[in-house]
Parts: sequence; C-alpha cells; structure tokens
Amino acid sequence: MPDPLDPAPHDAADPLASFRERFTPAPGVVAYLDGNSLGRPPAAAADRLAGFVRDDWGTRLIRGWDEGWWTLPERLGDRIGGLALGAAPGQTVVADSTTVLLHKLATAAVALRPGRDEIVTDTGNFPTDRDVLDGIADARGLTVRRIRTDPAAGITPEQVAAAVSGRTALVSFSHVGYRSGWIADAPAITRIAHDAGALVLWDLSHSAGSVPVELDAWGADLAAGCTYKYLNGGPGSPAFGYVRADLLADVENPVRGWVGRADPFGMTDGFAPADGVRRMLSGTPPVLATVPLQVSLEMLAEAGIGAVREKSRRLTRYALELADAWLVPHGVAVASPRDPDRLGGHVTLTRPGFAGLLGPLHAAGVIPDYRGPDGLRIGPAPLSTSFAELHAGLSVLRSLVAG
Ligand SMILES: *Cc1c(COP(=O)(O)O)cnc(C)c1O
Repeated sequence: MPDPLDPAPHDAADPLASFRERFTPAPGVVAYLDGNSLGRPPAAAADRLAGFVRDDWGTRLIRGWDEGWWTLPERLGDRIGGLALGAAPGQTVVADSTTVLLHKLATAAVALRPGRDEIVTDTGNFPTDRDVLDGIADARGLTVRRIRTDPAAGITPEQVAAAVSGRTALVSFSHVGYRSGWIADAPAITRIAHDAGALVLWDLSHSAGSVPVELDAWGADLAAGCTYKYLNGGPGSPAFGYVRADLLADVENPVRGWVGRADPFGMTDGFAPADGVRRMLSGTPPVLATVPLQVSLEMLAEAGIGAVREKSRRLTRYALELADAWLVPHGVAVASPRDPDRLGGHVTLTRPGFAGLLGPLHAAGVIPDYRGPDGLRIGPAPLSTSFAELHAGLSVLRSLVAG
C-alpha cells in the first residue's frame, strides 16, 4: 500500500519545484523551516551584489544617483505593489525598516483624524506594532484600545465592529498573525473601520510574497511590511510602505528630510513635500540593501503570487497531515487555524518544553522558528522548500517528541 505521507508525489506534482535549485545551498541544513522569519538567499544574489559594487557603485560613482538609484524607492515599491500587494503604481515605496515605516504611517494617520483620540489594535499584534502605536499614543495623548484576541484565531470583523466608534482615528492589525498564521478578513475589517470614519493600517510582514494581498480592492488606506521574510531580501533589507492614492495629497511624513522634499537639490529654506508617495521618504535610499530583493522579485514575477499561494497551501496542509500522524499522538497541539482559507504560510505547533528541543533540532540540521512560551513555527517557503524537506524536518521532530 502506498504511504499516504510520502512526499515524493507532492514534489513530482509541484510546478514550482525547480525554483528550489535557485537558492544558495546551506551545508548541514536538512530542513530550513524558517522562511517566514528570514528567507533564504537566491543564489544569483551573490553575483548581483558583487556586480553592483564593482560595476554600478564602482564605475558610475555619484552618477549612479541620476542613473536610477534616486528613483529606486518608488520603482521597487511599484514592483512589489504589482507582484504581491494588489497596489497600482504610485502608492508604494521601499525605505526604512518596518518599524520606522509603521511609525511614520500611523503618525500620519492620526494627524489626518484630528479630534479623534483612539487607536484600535489587538493584544496579539507583533511587539513592534504595539510599541509603535503605544509610543504615538503616549506622545499625543491618545488611547490605544487593545482588542483581546485568541492568538490561534486572530482578529475578527465582529470584534472590530464592537471596538470602533466616533473616537477611533486609526485601526491597525497584522493581515497574517505572526504567532499562528491566521489571516484576518481584511476587506471586512477595512469596511468596518471606514464606516466608523477611521483609517486602516495593515502590517503585511507575514503576507508579502506568501498570501496574495489586494490593497486597492480592499480600500486599505495604509500598509507596511518587511522584505526579508517571504520576499528573501536578506537580513535588514528595507521595508515597503503603501499610501492609498487619494490620501497622498494630505498625508504628512512626520520624519521630514531632504529626500522627501519637492525639490531636494534646491537646498532652500522651508520644507515642501514631494508629490506622491515619495513624500514618505526621509533620507538617502538604501540602494545597496535592495540588490538581493531585486533578484528575489524577479523570481516571484516568474512564479506568480497565485502559484506561490497554491504551493504554500499544499505545504501547510502537508505539515498538518504530518503533525496529526506523527506529533499530535505525543502531546503536540496545532495552534493554527485548520481552515486553509484562514491560514497563511506557517503552522504553529505547541507542547510544553518545546524550547528544550531547539538545540537537538539544530544539531540535526532542522531549523524551525521558536516563539515562546512553547510554540514551534513551521514556516516552509514556497519557492525554496520541498515536500521532502518538510517531511525530513518533521520526522526529526517526531523522533525527538517520541523519544
Ligand atoms: C517581522 C515583523 C516586523 C519586523 O519589523 P522590523 O522593523 O523589520 O524589525 C514587524 N511586524 C510584523 C508583524 C512582523 O512579523
């Protein structure tokens, strides 16, 4: 009888299987299951980086700014917007870190709603989101209303409807929850926030390059996210930020700087913001740090976000099948939604004492992600993870929990 958990038929039927060879091999790594925290480097990134230093920076020198570097934040923003965010051109920039862009966008949002004194988020939001919103509230005398959410189930439209009011300036959530991978009903939540007259800021860190996003269709106001998770931009690659086109004329960047000026080289007194989303920039664009991201976006363009999501759904379903057969009998619980329409790219497994397994897992070449108190996040990356790799990693985990 064929083994129903055999990974081979899944890999044989995977239209994206060949992308795996286009990532740098990692000697000794049996299973890399942390693509949701730091994506693997595309193999071409090394040459592209070396070529950039040698040919672009090296030979063009300061002329490079006029030959494309200066406009890179909007050009790359448009590219990510088109490939992964459902955003028409002219609304997205690449800059800063996610934390800094969240701060800039959330500050701009509350300034657009004078007289309203509340920001709504949830208890399960990522720590940086909570810190940013608390910091803005403290500085401006606002209140953060924190909806208590079940980390495994995430935020619901009903909860948002009960929390917003005429006092709400801004509503901000993650689209995909970092702990369990739940997917929020973004169109419904956006509508509810708008009905209350509030603006909405989505954190797309765990969505971009994994779960299709439709910012324009949702009617979202603002969004930010990182590029080093499923977008494989490398450690510290800059973030992206989105401002809906019809807000652009009014939105004010709280971190004014010369790169966001209308006339950066005029060196005049007095700040006048650039037209369009460029006004959200502050200082010199991190050109060098976007080189691997550019390689990765070429791969995403080739694969298509629809196929990426389809493989991601198959990977998480397979991870759940393996977990049910091998781990649940040993006291492991699945702490992620089981409805594939509500689950993003990773699956979280919990069992008391999981922290103690990280050492043995790493020693065996298996690298999952750990989130305390006792959650192992299994984050396969659709372009670089095979079903055989997932099978190998979870079978090591099985032997550890059974042993
Ligand atoms: C990874 C992540 C971040 C990261 O913020 P940085 O400023 O890039 O460190 C922010 N928000 C969420 C939801 C994340 O998952």
